[in-house]
Amino acid sequence: MVNDQLTKVRCDVLVIGSGIAGTYAASVAAESGADVLLLTKTRLMSGSTQWAQGGIAFPLDTSDVELHLRDTLVAGRGLTDSTTAESLISESFIHLEKLEEKGVVFDLELGLEGGHSKARVKHVGGDRTGYFVLDVLQKTMPERVLCYENTVAYKLLVRNGTVFGALGFNADRPDQRIEVVARATILATGGSGQLFKVTTNPRESTGDGFLLAYHSGAELRDIELIQFHPTALHDGTLISEACRGEGARLVDGHGHPFMSEYDPDEELAPRDVVSRAISDQLARGHDTFLDLTPITNFSEKFPYIARKLKTLGLDQHHDRIPIAPAAHYFMGGISTSPFGSTSLSRLYCAGEVASTTFHGANRLASNSLLEGLVMGHRAAISALDAPPVKFHTLDAWDANTPLQIPNQDLDSIKELAHKYLNSTRDSEGLLQTLQLLANRDLYTLEIDKTTYEVANLFALARLVAKGALEREESRGGHYRRDFPNPSPTAYHVLQSLGQDPQREPVSG
Ligand SMILES: Cc1cc2nc3c(=O)[nH]c(=O)nc-3n(C[C@H](O)[C@H](O)[C@H](O)COP(=O)(O)OP(=O)(O)OC[C@H]3O[C@@H](n4cnc5c(N)ncnc54)[C@H](O)[C@@H]3O)c2cc1C
Repeated sequence: MVNDQLTKVRCDVLVIGSGIAGTYAASVAAESGADVLLLTKTRLMSGSTQWAQGGIAFPLDTSDVELHLRDTLVAGRGLTDSTTAESLISESFIHLEKLEEKGVVFDLELGLEGGHSKARVKHVGGDRTGYFVLDVLQKTMPERVLCYENTVAYKLLVRNGTVFGALGFNADRPDQRIEVVARATILATGGSGQLFKVTTNPRESTGDGFLLAYHSGAELRDIELIQFHPTALHDGTLISEACRGEGARLVDGHGHPFMSEYDPDEELAPRDVVSRAISDQLARGHDTFLDLTPITNFSEKFPYIARKLKTLGLDQHHDRIPIAPAAHYFMGGISTSPFGSTSLSRLYCAGEVASTTFHGANRLASNSLLEGLVMGHRAAISALDAPPVKFHTLDAWDANTPLQIPNQDLDSIKELAHKYLNSTRDSEGLLQTLQLLANRDLYTLEIDKTTYEVANLFALARLVAKGALEREESRGGHYRRDFPNPSPTAYHVLQSLGQDPQREPVSG
């Protein structure tokens, strides 16, 4: 690739990604006096955050922290670290107040969602929570946050295990590149639902952050643990869990509710249970639907979903709504301490890209926006401690590194993921996936957004398959036909460049 135009920028804190975690981190760092560059690959309003419907799970008051923690631990199936989870939940009050001070007006009614033993989910504008919260955060961002939209981060600047910023290119003009040297870098690039054929995630969720970190030497944890949302339309549009909290029933083609066959909590069982129940019905040849008729004032409570159903010619008052599970959330990600640091010096993470162990093997509904806020704040505070970069540490970064692209098109990667990496797996399918992904010729291409994203999804499919093969048990979002029970000792699966996956027993 010819180095046509290279813009060089220096800042205190580089934030990559403008969802809830990145936007909040950028604001916190700037409010503390740092010069911040926020780089995002499409528009500022991007990522999964703007699509979050259900809301944010805040404990009702300090006396509810214990119960919220218990619900989180039950959903996490032995992989949630209770000390980390308790501190995140307890700290969330501060950020709720911050949001309200900035101008977020929460609806009065609280939502009940699967796995929560109480109605404690706060929402805004009915089912538009993510959009409205992000809108306020972006409108109130301090002026000293410099934003570069349409800029794809494609390489971290690493020397001896220390990250000094990143290289990016313009999404429309890949020959226009940017080199950002920063005291600290915060990755907030979200998840990677786009690995799968059917996903609730937007187009930009291609796992870039996982690979930026992994290829730079950072450790990934539990990347095989992926949550499939039980109720999505066939195009991936989510029908919020809050609908079941309001009384919607899961029914077969004859209108018979079936959840009582699977769990005493029926429609409000945790997501892994509901998703597997629906997959089981589908495997038995029964179509699956959501019956929304028990919900009163549906259009008022769920205006976005009501509009979407109308455009599809569906009427929630009369029609059963056809649904199926869709790839939704990566519980695993870059191994991240409770304070946002990673195995690489000066690299911090927040939001879905990070694995803090808060969500364990199965995220509790509406806990991810809470985590995005608390960890966005913590990553920013930790980043501020990074010492200034000495000029002599920096020699020329190679902005011309060619990209090695596997000879594989995106549709076939998605097809493989859909078939073998969904929530029900076995060693035969996982080995086949690895074999099919191994024998690909690599060829060198000039970087552009699509080829870069395909390369990431290709690499991610291999990592998920390797992690899933190593996890010889069934737990949370991961079900192995050949190992249908949880292992007696819970463990994390760690992956680092050039090493086989390792198991790390869960302490305590
Ligand atoms: C349909 C839907 C509904 C949901 N509902 C809820 C809910 O009700 N409650 C809840 O708690 N959670 C919900 N979730 C999950 C939650 O929305 C996400 O986990 C959370 O918003 C992730 O926030 P984030 O800041 O980590 O990442 P995102 O919001 O995904 O933002 C990632 C950002 O990184 C940018 N980016 C990615 N790669 C690059 C790159 N290479 N260079 C530059 N920029 C890059 C993207 O453009 C984007 O700006 C939902 C998710 C979906 C998809």
